[in-house]
Order: sequence, then structure tokens, then C-alpha cells
Amino acid sequence: MKLVVYDYDSYMLLEQYDGHSLEGTDYTVVDVPDNVDLDLWVYKHRNKHSSIPFEPESVDPTIWDTRYLALTETVASWSKDPSSKFGSVLVDPNNVVSALGFNGFAKGFEDSPERWADREFKYAHVIHAEEQVLLHSPVDLTGYTLYCNGLPCSSCMSKLAQKGVSTVVFYEPTADYKKRWSIANPVQVAKECGIQLKQIRRETK
Ligand SMILES: [Zn+2]
Repeated sequence: MKLVVYDYDSYMLLEQYDGHSLEGTDYTVVDVPDNVDLDLWVYKHRNKHSSIPFEPESVDPTIWDTRYLALTETVASWSKDPSSKFGSVLVDPNNVVSALGFNGFAKGFEDSPERWADREFKYAHVIHAEEQVLLHSPVDLTGYTLYCNGLPCSSCMSKLAQKGVSTVVFYEPTADYKKRWSIANPVQVAKECGIQLKQIRRETK
């Protein structure tokens, strides 16, 4: 039997849980039979509300896709999060940069390594890269494109939809990303809300 912890949107083997206290966190420990494929089990449980059984297909990038996705990697490198670095670039319908964002704490909030190392504390306080962009963007984003170095989470995708973002261009999720976050849920949000998704192969960058 394998023990799995549910913490926010993340599933981990209990023995891989990196030593921080689970007290006060929202988690469940469940038994998964040894003969079950753990990745498949996690995928099914995480995506139980989604009707999308597959991942989006990758396509070839335009020159602007290549340039702005490269910029998301630079912006992501500015994040102080030691484990997850995300960057987003918002461009207007004329391909002009409107806002940039990376995952981080609020302005003025102490940015110590200890706080970043405390997963529970981090999840409770971090502002996602896409949210940072939305906080610095114009009111109506109809016709705008958001570039991200990873697929936005369901919550961010919902906020992007609410602001009218038309297109989200992102690098195909890494194997590590797929283990930790949902693919189908944000894709479902984009599909229902009319956001065009464009997934770009990493090797073509
Ligand atoms: Zn997010």
C-alpha cells in the first residue's frame, strides 16, 4: 500500500513529503493498492470533474510565440521560489507587451528563504505569475494573448477568462509539472470559457 497526501492540488507519496509539519494543512492520507499505476490513479482523481481525457496537442510556434515564450523563461527566473518558477507575459492585440509577472509574495512582504521553504506558508501567500499580470493589466483584455512558461492552473485560467483574455500560449508541461498539477482542469475551463489554448513543444523554442 502506498500512502498519498492530498495538499491543495498536489499529490505526493507520503515518504516524499519533505519533512514539514502537516499540522493545520488541508490533506488526506489515502491507501493506493500496490498493483495500481500511481500516476494514472492521481490523474483520474485529480481530473474527476473534467470531461477532457487527453492533453492538448503541441503545435509549431510563430516567431512571436518563440520570442515571448523565451521572455517568460527570463521573467520566471526572477522568482525567488526555489522549487517552482513561473513567468507570464501579456501582449495586446498589436503584439505589444502590456504586463509581466512571476510567482512571488506581495510587495513589502518579507521574502526570506525560510518562508519559501515552508510549503504550507508559501501556498497560502504566493501570488501566481498570471495573477501578477492581471493585477497590472488594463480592465478589458479581449483580444489579448498571455504567454506562460507552463499551463496556468484552473484558478488562474478562470480569472483570465473573466478578464476576457482570448489566447493562452504555453510550453508543454514538463513531466514534473504533470505529476504535481492538473492538466485537464484548466483545459476544461479554457474550453468552456472560449480561451484559445496553444501548446508549444519545448524542443522548438
Ligand atoms: Zn495559478
